[in-house]
Amino acid sequence: MLLPSFDYYRPQSLPEALSLLGEMGEDARPLAGGTDLLVNLKLKKLAPKVLLDLGGLEELKGNRADDGLVSLGALDTASRLASGGPEVPGLLAMGAGALGSPQVRNRATLGGNLVTARPAADICLPLLALGAKAVLAGPNGEREVALDGYFKGPGYTVKEAGEILTRVILDAPRPGVGGGYQKLGLRQAMEIALVNVAAHLELEDDGKTVALARVALGAVAPFPMLSPGAASALIGKPAQETCFSEAAEAAAAEARPIDDHRGSAAYRRDMVRTLTLRALRQALSQAQGNQEAQA
Ligand SMILES: Cc1cc2nc3c(=O)[nH]c(=O)nc-3n(C[C@H](O)[C@H](O)[C@H](O)COP(=O)(O)OP(=O)(O)OC[C@H]3O[C@@H](n4cnc5c(N)ncnc54)[C@H](O)[C@@H]3O)c2cc1C
Repeated sequence: MLLPSFDYYRPQSLPEALSLLGEMGEDARPLAGGTDLLVNLKLKKLAPKVLLDLGGLEELKGNRADDGLVSLGALDTASRLASGGPEVPGLLAMGAGALGSPQVRNRATLGGNLVTARPAADICLPLLALGAKAVLAGPNGEREVALDGYFKGPGYTVKEAGEILTRVILDAPRPGVGGGYQKLGLRQAMEIALVNVAAHLELEDDGKTVALARVALGAVAPFPMLSPGAASALIGKPAQETCFSEAAEAAAAEARPIDDHRGSAAYRRDMVRTLTLRALRQALSQAQGNQEAQA
């Protein structure tokens, strides 16, 4: 299948990219790894006249740590995130490592995953559970948007057409914090999740009480969603099975799955319960491991 014809631009700075995007409006599309965009072009679902390759923009590259926060570049690939490093929370590395295949992970970017905003997106879910913010640059400057509030529907977010997602900001990894990621698909690899769950736990200094928790659910709503009920079943409580089971029940009750050709809503709801429990156990083990390593 051949690609349709289009003009190709490779701006060398963010202001240049924003000005080209402003000039060309809906006719232009930013291009990052191309794993979604080029597929959609081949399938003739999209026909932009211009592709703006973001690969020349230094502003979208590299990771920085400062004052307890990390800023990850939108052009970070899933492979790079999956291989971890001091600025990459374990939970994000797990999600990125579950995306597609090695070939897809070598191209797919963090920014592309957040803009594509699929309900089961493997990078979106961990970032939502981690309480991350997206940085959107547009003609009037930059704005930061918390991911809880960023997603609006499948492939639809608060990002406007003239904006480029430049970076993501989140808390730096630290002792007593852990994550768990569970993905269920019909196959082991190259699979969009049937259900996926990302759990984030922060423990008090006693190593036993939950200080903060977020549970993000995928493929059970039109976009990645947080379960407020799961968080309130955990925060301030002992990090143990009774609370984990209550949180899993709350997550299953709040999920909004629908029947489709890949699975029934009832099955998906059951799987939310099971995967939430597993993700919380994994998060606790990582949080306690981090705390012991620092002691
Ligand atoms: C075989 C295959 C398997 C896959 N498996 C998975 C999977 O298991 N899990 C999963 O989550 N996804 C999966 N995907 C989807 C895809 O790989 C991811 O969504 C990926 O993260 C998209 O990133 P990209 O850099 O390739 O985006 P692109 O294709 O370059 O762009 C996607 C969209 O985002 C826009 N865009 C990209 N970057 C920016 C930016 N910085 N600012 C503004 N707009 C931007 C583009 O204009 C385009 O509309 C799969 C895709 C394929 C082809």
